[in-house]
Amino acid sequence: MPAFQTTPGTRDILPPDASRWRAFVDVFASVVERAGYEQIVLPMFEDLGVFQRLGDTTDVVTKEMYDFVDKGGRHVALRPEQTAGVCRAFVQHHPNVPWKVWYSGPNFRYEKAQQGRYRQFDQVGIEVLGVDDPLLDVEVISLAHSFYRELGLCDVELRVNSLGDTGDRARYVDALAAYLRSRETELSRESQATLARNPLRVLDSKRAEDREVVAQAPSISGFFSHGAASHFAAVQEGLALLGIDFVVDDRLVRGLDYYRSTTFEFVSTALDAAQTAIGGGGRYDGLVEDLGGDPTPGIGFAIGVDRTLLACDAESTFAAPDGTADVFVVDTTGGRTALLLAAQLRGAGLRTERAYGAKSMKSQMKTANRSRAAVAVIIGEDELARGVATVRPMDGGEQTHCPLDAVVATVLDIVSKGKS
Ligand code: AMP
Repeated sequence: MPAFQTTPGTRDILPPDASRWRAFVDVFASVVERAGYEQIVLPMFEDLGVFQRLGDTTDVVTKEMYDFVDKGGRHVALRPEQTAGVCRAFVQHHPNVPWKVWYSGPNFRYEKAQQGRYRQFDQVGIEVLGVDDPLLDVEVISLAHSFYRELGLCDVELRVNSLGDTGDRARYVDALAAYLRSRETELSRESQATLARNPLRVLDSKRAEDREVVAQAPSISGFFSHGAASHFAAVQEGLALLGIDFVVDDRLVRGLDYYRSTTFEFVSTALDAAQTAIGGGGRYDGLVEDLGGDPTPGIGFAIGVDRTLLACDAESTFAAPDGTADVFVVDTTGGRTALLLAAQLRGAGLRTERAYGAKSMKSQMKTANRSRAAVAVIIGEDELARGVATVRPMDGGEQTHCPLDAVVATVLDIVSKGKS
């Protein structure tokens, strides 16, 4: 066993998975940039207070934060998510609204590590600040939906709910708490503890003992104000207009305390695991104010990269991009010609590999074959003496000898014919 290994909940993303990872972010960027979202890059750690605004009954804040006092005596924390950072940046920089941003990158939560649940995990996401329009909620949800489609995922279920406005939510939480207390002895021990801290989260319980009590709990829809009800109705109409299937799940409360009004979650029905939520989000009107800004409506979502890629595996879609080289340079004359030719071929945009060290022709050709490159460019003593290179299509096509200054054009020609 090596002396050091990754610590629990962290992983190395090795080739070719790392290129698949990057391609994933590229697809996401293209989907949301088409809708006018611009990239933001936030610090990975911030003042602890920024994240504490996410709510003192949120597990992410109370139990899972990687926080520490730095050498300057500041109490900071690794970000557990990026919405709070976006809102902090909004208050700090006063951008014009609507502020439409997207992000990608790692977050950190001290969770129980398991398949699909890590302590360092990546998300891509968007946030929009400054607009309270139900049709924006539809746009935001539809962008996540389009992204999943673009990855080739089909078995994704969209669940939507509304938590009402702040007053509705508070009245509902009171009623729910009263109901749950009246049946407290029937709840699991864990849910009894959750009830004391955050009654809403009891609705998240997947435990068999809690099922009946949760099923009979009052529904939030009975507590909607007129405004909240019509907002939610408009969201559902908009989704229907776009032909996006969804189910209304009145038990969907989501992990973070700051959510209001529209909430949603995407679940992979192809994943046969405990962790099937591949993304989710909602409105968080109020968070900017909590961070010291003017009252500003906000909405966004975050998609788990790790878990969505597991869903892609389950649906056999979005494979790692093909990293095969276009051309392989073999040089048995000392390597200087290979150095020069490889630089020229790469400069022309060709994916170029070569062998290193003074290996024999046989050994270098073996590596060239293994690389599955479309073309081999070979320089032996004979070629060197004549100032040419042998250009050999690896599919068995006819090889040619061409002057060194014509190699790039010849290879480009063969590669582009092979691709067309
Ligand atoms: P949240 O920020 O909790 O709303 O989570 C949004 C999405 O991020 C989830 O649907 C998951 O796909 C993903 N996610 C959250 N926590 C983790 C984790 N610990 N490990 C892997 N993915 C996660």
